[in-house]
Amino acid sequence: MSNFDVDLFVIGGGSGGVRAARIAAGYGARVVVAEEYRVGGTCVIRGCVPKKLLVYASRFSDDFEDAAGFGWTVEKPRFDWPTLIRNKDREISRLEGIYRSNLEKAGVEIIDSRAVIEDAHTVRVLSTGARVRARYILVAVGARPSLEPAIPGGELGITSNEVFDLAEQPRRILVIGGGYIAVEFAGIFRGLGSEVTLVHRGDKLLRGFDEDIRDAIGDAYARGGVRLRLGRTVDRLDRRGGAIQATLSDGEVLEFDTVLGATGRRPNITGLGLETAGIEVDAVGAIPVDAYSQTITPSIYAVGDVTNRANLTPVAIREGHAFADTVFGGKPTIVDHSIIPTAVFSTPEIGVIGFSEVAARKLHGEIDVYRTSFRPMRATLSGRDDRVLMKLLVDKATDRVVGVHIMGSDAGEMIQLAGIAVTMGATKADFDRTIAVHPTAAEELVTMRTPVVVKTPVSVG
Ligand code: NDP
Repeated sequence: MSNFDVDLFVIGGGSGGVRAARIAAGYGARVVVAEEYRVGGTCVIRGCVPKKLLVYASRFSDDFEDAAGFGWTVEKPRFDWPTLIRNKDREISRLEGIYRSNLEKAGVEIIDSRAVIEDAHTVRVLSTGARVRARYILVAVGARPSLEPAIPGGELGITSNEVFDLAEQPRRILVIGGGYIAVEFAGIFRGLGSEVTLVHRGDKLLRGFDEDIRDAIGDAYARGGVRLRLGRTVDRLDRRGGAIQATLSDGEVLEFDTVLGATGRRPNITGLGLETAGIEVDAVGAIPVDAYSQTITPSIYAVGDVTNRANLTPVAIREGHAFADTVFGGKPTIVDHSIIPTAVFSTPEIGVIGFSEVAARKLHGEIDVYRTSFRPMRATLSGRDDRVLMKLLVDKATDRVVGVHIMGSDAGEMIQLAGIAVTMGATKADFDRTIAVHPTAAEELVTMRTPVVVKTPVSVG
């Protein structure tokens, strides 16, 4: 022990690192966290949290319109981007302060600097040059936006790092990509009144999600006014006066004020010194770890997006906690990555747990599919052309619900709760004997009785 300055040196003050540091300190470990940017990491500073605030902002436009059907007269609403960004910044600073004070209260020392690994037990703090000897090192540096594909003029675009700080709301925005971030930001800017074009190389959004959900969100976005350019890529970007001109692979040329690249994220390992400790990264730059998040070098662990397991904040938090329990709490703990609920904060929202229909058939062979698509009650008076999609996948052999897919308002909230049942191994019979809460959209989850006989593409139009 006396050979070491600290028991744990955490590199990265994001979701995973902060949780690990606090829990380890709670077990009596001497802990240091180094963070080069802002404590809280991507999720708090420029990810999930500010994104959700922008999502809330974006949904008022529909609310104002819908109010008319319920008897309200709303004067033409106006939206002011700088006000939203200012208020968002204030909230993010407040949260950052809470993260810092929670660490300090737990007895963790925070170093506001980049830190790099020099060997299996040594970290160098770049702001001071100090070398810290640590019994354990936890790498929790997360990921950063991918700048792929490299195209001429690519530097004219921004990533999700910059989008939260735009001085002005773009009147015309191009979003490149078809994953979580692209779909969420296309929805945000559409709701805020920007003209949104989304270019994606695939023929549907959200690869990996259930095909019905992919079809439904594509339909909803097209109907909601997002200009979708699927099966295409952006060949080049050029500055044209105050605008950015995008040339697509089919020759179409369009002009924008802002171009947002959202083509994935990469582990943030550049210059981290992993090789000095004998750690080789995999093909995408992720740090290989075992079930306990331990790297090939026994004193070095890694959690969160830098390990590219399931790149979600709650998973990083779980991994950080499990690491601390294992190494400092005497409770070896592994995180179950096999079943993870997730939400896409598109409008309409998506919530998912378990397998897609294609994956469930591959894994379980015979499955029953329960599917419903309906007009939500609110739309009856608002007149909005909205649909809700719900789908349950049931393993025929065991009756277990192996997938739940929801698209519609509050799908994220619904899937969190449905996720408890599915994680517990609920069967379709368990869903059936649950009494409905009426009138809700979620009651459909417990009232679907007849499986779909022949799979037909769901129409939500
Ligand atoms: P995703 O991996 O979700 O999506 C990346 C998108 O970019 C895909 O549509 C992909 O296409 C496309 N793409 C990748 N490379 C290229 C390329 N060279 N040229 C053209 N298109 C390309 O990444 P995101 O950046 O959207 O988000 C990163 C991660 O962050 C997510 O995977 C998720 O784990 C997490 N996240 C979670 C959120 C949530 O929980 N709500 C919100 C935001 C992010 P293709 O499908 O063809 O590969």
